[in-house]
Amino acid sequence: MAPKAPKSSTLTVLRTEVVSEHFVRVVFGGDGFADFTPRPETDSYVKIELPAGDDTVVRTYTVRRVDRAAEEIWIDFVVHGDEGIAGPWARSVQPGTEVVLRGPGAGYLPDPAADFHLLAGDETAVPAIAAALESLPAHASGAVFIEVAGESDELDLIAPAGVTVTWLHRGVAAGDAGPDRIDGNAPLVSAVRELRWPDGDIQVFVHGEAETVMKHIRPYLRKERGVPSARASISGYWRRGRTEEGFRTWKRELSEIEAG
Ligand SMILES: Cc1cc2nc3c(=O)[nH]c(=O)nc-3n(C[C@H](O)[C@H](O)[C@H](O)COP(=O)(O)OP(=O)(O)OC[C@H]3O[C@@H](n4cnc5c(N)ncnc54)[C@H](O)[C@@H]3O)c2cc1C
Repeated sequence: MAPKAPKSSTLTVLRTEVVSEHFVRVVFGGDGFADFTPRPETDSYVKIELPAGDDTVVRTYTVRRVDRAAEEIWIDFVVHGDEGIAGPWARSVQPGTEVVLRGPGAGYLPDPAADFHLLAGDETAVPAIAAALESLPAHASGAVFIEVAGESDELDLIAPAGVTVTWLHRGVAAGDAGPDRIDGNAPLVSAVRELRWPDGDIQVFVHGEAETVMKHIRPYLRKERGVPSARASISGYWRRGRTEEGFRTWKRELSEIEAG
C-alpha cells in the first residue's frame, strides 16, 4: 500500500515578487516540497501557520501554481493594509523563512463538458480563477468577472478565446470601500446579475467577500437562476470587519440559520 500523503509540509520561502499594487507572490520550496502532494482541482488551498506575537495563527490561501520541475509552490497574497497577520507577513517575509503548510484541500475543477463557465470574485479569488482558466479546454465558453481596486491590479490572465474576462473597478482597496461599494452594492453583484443568462449546463465558481457572495450573489444564482448545488462552487473567502477566526464563527452561524 502506498504511504499516506503527509497532511502538512514545512516549506522555505524562496523569494517574493510584487505582482500588482495589492498582490504579492510568495514562492515556497526547499526540502519540504517533496512532502507536498498537489491536487488536481484548481481551487486547491492550504492552511498556513504564521507567527503572531508569541502565538501561531492559521490563514487559508489558494495554491496559485505548483511548478514540479522547479519544485516551487506559488501563493498570491492580497496585501490589504497593515491589519491582520498574513497580508503584512507576505509584504515583509524574507527568503529562508520556514513555514508549515497544512493540506492542500480543494473542492472545484471546471468540467470541460459544461456549456458555459461563470467565474466571479474579488482579489482573493484571482489565484483560483486564474488557475481555473488555465485548465479550461480551448473550446470552452464563459464569462469572468473580477472586482479589484483599479487598473493597477489587473493581471494578464490566460483564457480560452470564448471566455470573456471583465475587470470591475471598485475605485478603492476592498478594506477602504464605503457602503456604496460593499455588500449588495459591490460592483461584482450587478455584473453577475446583468450577465445575459446563457442556455445549457452552466458551472459557476464565485468566491470573495462573504456578505457579498453568500447573501447577494448565491441566492441569485441558486434560486433565481436555478444552478444546482453540484454545479455551484460558491463561498466566502473573507469577511469584512472580521479576522479569519471571526469569519469562521460567522460561517458557522450562517449555516446554523440556514439549517433552521
Ligand atoms: C479557501 C480560501 C482560499 C483563499 N485564497 C486566498 C488567496 O489566494 N489570496 C488571498 O489574498 N486571500 C485568500 N483567501 C482569503 C484570506 O484567507 C483572508 O483574506 C484572510 O482573512 C487574510 O488574513 P490576514 O491575516 O491578512 O487578515 P485577518 O487577520 O484575517 O483580518 C484582519 C482584518 O483584515 C480584513 N481583511 C482580511 N482579508 C482582507 C482582504 N482580502 N481585503 C481587505 N480586507 C481584508 C478583515 O476583514 C479584518 O478586518 C482565501 C480564503 C479561503 C477560505
